[in-house]
Amino acid sequence: MRIAMIGTGYVGLVSGVCFSDFGHDVVCVDKDPSKIDRLKAGEVPIYEPGLEALLAKNVTAGRLRFTQDLASALENAEAVFIGVGTPSRRGDGHADLSYVYAAAAEIAAAARGYLVIVTKSTVPVGTNREVRRIVAETNPDLDFDVASNPEFLREGAAIDDFMRPDRVIVGVENDRAAEIMSEVYRPLFLRDFPIIRTDLESAEMIKYAANAFLATKITFINEVAALCEKVGADVKEVAKGIGLDGRIGNKFLHAGPGYGGSCFPKDTKALAQIGRNASSPMTIVESVINVNETVKARMIDKMRALCDGSFGGKKVLVLGVTFKPNTDDMRDAPSLTILPPVSKEGGDVHVVDPQGRPEGKALLPDVTWHDDIYDAAKDADLIVVLTEWNEFRALDLKRIARAMRSPRMADLRNIYTAQDARVAGFESYASVGRTSYQ
Ligand code: NAD
Repeated sequence: MRIAMIGTGYVGLVSGVCFSDFGHDVVCVDKDPSKIDRLKAGEVPIYEPGLEALLAKNVTAGRLRFTQDLASALENAEAVFIGVGTPSRRGDGHADLSYVYAAAAEIAAAARGYLVIVTKSTVPVGTNREVRRIVAETNPDLDFDVASNPEFLREGAAIDDFMRPDRVIVGVENDRAAEIMSEVYRPLFLRDFPIIRTDLESAEMIKYAANAFLATKITFINEVAALCEKVGADVKEVAKGIGLDGRIGNKFLHAGPGYGGSCFPKDTKALAQIGRNASSPMTIVESVINVNETVKARMIDKMRALCDGSFGGKKVLVLGVTFKPNTDDMRDAPSLTILPPVSKEGGDVHVVDPQGRPEGKALLPDVTWHDDIYDAAKDADLIVVLTEWNEFRALDLKRIARAMRSPRMADLRNIYTAQDARVAGFESYASVGRTSYQ
C-alpha cells in the first residue's frame, strides 16, 4: 500500500522507514529542505542506532523516497501520517498544535481521493476531531477519515520498539478507516502484536496517560531515593525489592537526576493543562512536574557539596549531556538545567558526550567539549556522570582519579559504587539514594 509521512523527525523518519521495511511504498515529506536534501543523499539527520542501514536498504529496494512536495507524496496514498512536533506552548504548557493543524490544512488542499489522515504526533483529546473539521472546511469535496495512532517508540531503541511494539493503538470512527489501518500494520498483526482499536478520544488519552504514568514512576523512585539518603537505605536494593512485585514491575525504577527529553516534560505539562481545562485537575501529575524540578536542584546541591560548597574556580568534567544514552536529542535534557548554574557560579565546565555535541554546542555555550575522557579529566576537581552511555560504564577510574586535581565523583546514574570509587582513589563520591562518602 502507499503511505505518506509528514515530518521526518525522530518519530516520522523512524515510522516511515519501518513502514517501508514492512513492504509498503512510503514517501516522507518535510518542510525543512536541508533534512530532505540530506535524506536524499542517504544521510540520516538524527542519531538513531540502525536507522541509516534500514533507510538505505529500503531506498535501494525502491520502497522509500523523500520529498518536499506533499501533493506528489499524496498521489494514490491510502494513508497519510502526521508526525510533526507538538512542543509545549510558551506560558501555559499546553501542546502547541499549530504544526499539526497546518499539516491538516496542507493535506486537505493537496489530496485528491479517499485517504485516512492519521495523527501520529502526541496530541490532546479533541485534536483529531479538529483535524477532521479543518480538512472538511478546507476541502469540502474530499472523501476522508481521521485516525489517531499515537507512537510509543523510545529514542535510542526506536526501530526495535516500532518493529516489536508492546501494543499499537488505533483510534478510528468506522470500519473503513480500521481496515486501512489494519493493512498498514498487517505485518505486526500477523506476528500477534496486540493492535487495540479504540475511539479517537481514548487513543489520544492513552498516550498522555502512559507517558504521565512513566514520569510518575521515575519521579516516585527519585523521591524514594532522597529519603533513602536520609535514612541510610539503598535505593537500588529498594527498587529491586519492589520491582520484583509483578504489580509494580522493575522498569523505570532507576533513580537519577530527574526525567527529561522530548516527551515526558512536555506531555506531563500538557496533561496537567488538559485536566485544568476540563476542571478535572491531574494533581498527581502536577506534583510530579514540581518534584522533578526539585530532583534536578538536588543534583546541583550534591555536586556543590562535593566542591566544598562552591563551584568557584573548580574544573567540573561532565560525562553525558543528552537526555539519555544512544540519542543526540538534547530537548529538555537535565543537563540544560543542571550545568548552567555551575558555570554561573564560577565553575569551569567540561563535557564529553558521544553524540551530544552538534545539538549541545548552542544549548550549552559556556562549556568546553572534549572527545577523550582521560585528557579531559586532567586537573579536574569533580567528575559527574550525568548520562549513562555504555562507554562510561567501564572506565579506568584509577587513571581518571590520578589525572584529576581533586578526585571526586558525582555518580548521578548509580553506575559505580562507593567501593569502586574508594578503591580507585577518589577522595569523595556521591550517588543517588545510596551510600556516599566525603
Ligand atoms: P521532531 O521535531 O524531531 O520532528 C518534526 C518534523 O516535522 C521536523 O523535521 C519538521 O521540519 C517537520 N514538520 C513540521 N511541520 C511540517 C509540515 N507542515 N510539513 C512537513 N514537515 C513538517 O519531532 P519528533 O520528536 O519526531 O516528535 C513528533 C511527534 O511525535 C511529537 O508530537 C512527539 O510528542 C511525538 N512522539 C515523539 C517521540 C520521541 O521519542 N521523539 C516518541 C513518541 C511520540
